[in-house]
Amino acid sequence: MRVLVVGAGIGGLAAARGLVAAGHEVVVLEQAAEPRLGGGAVTLWCNGTAILGDLGVDLEGAGQRLTTLCLRTAGGRQVLEFDLEALAERFGSAARVIPRRTLITLLGSGLAEGAVRFGARVAELRTDGDGVRVRTETGQEYGGDFLVGADGVRSRVRALVLGGGQAALTGAATWQGLTQAPFDLGSTTTLMVGRQGDFGFMGAGDGLMQWFFDVPWSSDAAARDKPLETLRRRFAGWGSPVERVLASLEDGDAELFPHTRHRVPRRWGDGRCALLGDAAHAMPPVMAQGTNQALEDVAALVDCLDAAPDPAAVVAAYSSRRRRQAALASALASHSLAVSGPRTLMQSEYLMRMNGAAPPRLATWGLGRLLRTLSDRI
Ligand SMILES: Cc1cc2nc3c(=O)[nH]c(=O)nc-3n(C[C@H](O)[C@H](O)[C@H](O)COP(=O)(O)OP(=O)(O)OC[C@H]3O[C@@H](n4cnc5c(N)ncnc54)[C@H](O)[C@@H]3O)c2cc1C
Repeated sequence: MRVLVVGAGIGGLAAARGLVAAGHEVVVLEQAAEPRLGGGAVTLWCNGTAILGDLGVDLEGAGQRLTTLCLRTAGGRQVLEFDLEALAERFGSAARVIPRRTLITLLGSGLAEGAVRFGARVAELRTDGDGVRVRTETGQEYGGDFLVGADGVRSRVRALVLGGGQAALTGAATWQGLTQAPFDLGSTTTLMVGRQGDFGFMGAGDGLMQWFFDVPWSSDAAARDKPLETLRRRFAGWGSPVERVLASLEDGDAELFPHTRHRVPRRWGDGRCALLGDAAHAMPPVMAQGTNQALEDVAALVDCLDAAPDPAAVVAAYSSRRRRQAALASALASHSLAVSGPRTLMQSEYLMRMNGAAPPRLATWGLGRLLRTLSDRI
């Protein structure tokens, strides 16, 4: 089958890898003039790394393998510890933190020269019984038997196929960066949660640290121009190493990602067009599900294209396979942590200490259950 993939992000490139391996002829259309290597590092859970392994992406030496996940209170008291090595053993694939640029490069390097057409911003789309045709903003036309819309939170394909608006702002945002680590981070990823929001930090390989603060979204220019001042004020009094991490940063190190959320649709496309990744289910980065769910989409879509007798039957099978898991991931990402409002009371030092305490084996078992619920792969 000739497949057009719109978007060369992690979802689109991974889809291209899977589709090529399944024997399809694939062209990826990307609006940017070159690979978009920006952003920090992404956390890949056992299911994400397993799917990348199935796609032939060798992650050995890429980023940082994670062995432990710690949840702490704002004061720094550890309340939960998850043994990610035990999960790696159980599921046959380890969790990793990988700079987005590394993953994009690894995915792209497995595609044939010219498979990705850069500077191709898809503007229009037409389907009929025989196939699908798109037109770019510069007037080039491409045709195929099937189209995958992997064009992110402002998906043009979603708007053309399903109608409706773009992903909505949730009222929260992440300040984040990928910078030189000020101390040895080992293979532990740590999340601190309090009434002001949350703070996470982890090694991302090559002496780099991925760090982030989730806060209420502010369009206030002063907060945006001087993020560190705002973060120091907001997170004053938090336990170690908040102050130390903030002291190691400059304003230019911090990138702002406002959180968005798309309604997860019942049908993930129409006719010969299917949506994938953020185009189908943009969600806040809380719980690091965006990339992992995009990879789950890739695995399911490649399977459905293989199994369905004709392209028009693919979307129904694919939607019903993915909808429930993505909707659950999106709900968890949207509601499990609060950065403002009365729900932050649940994140007070006292309640965190009371509610959080569970033995590591039980916590690890719970995380494993959750990952299995959100995945078809493990
Ligand atoms: C530059 C960038 C930086 C990011 N940084 C982070 C980060 O630091 N942390 C994090 O958790 N997540 C980050 N993300 C989001 C994260 O990569 C995604 O949530 C996840 O990987 C799912 O990706 P996706 O492929 O569905 O969408 P995306 O990664 O958003 O990729 C969509 C791609 O489609 C292209 N595109 C959009 N419209 C069109 C069009 N009309 N025609 C052709 N191409 C189009 C975009 O240029 C983009 O390359 C970032 C995304 C981008 C694009």
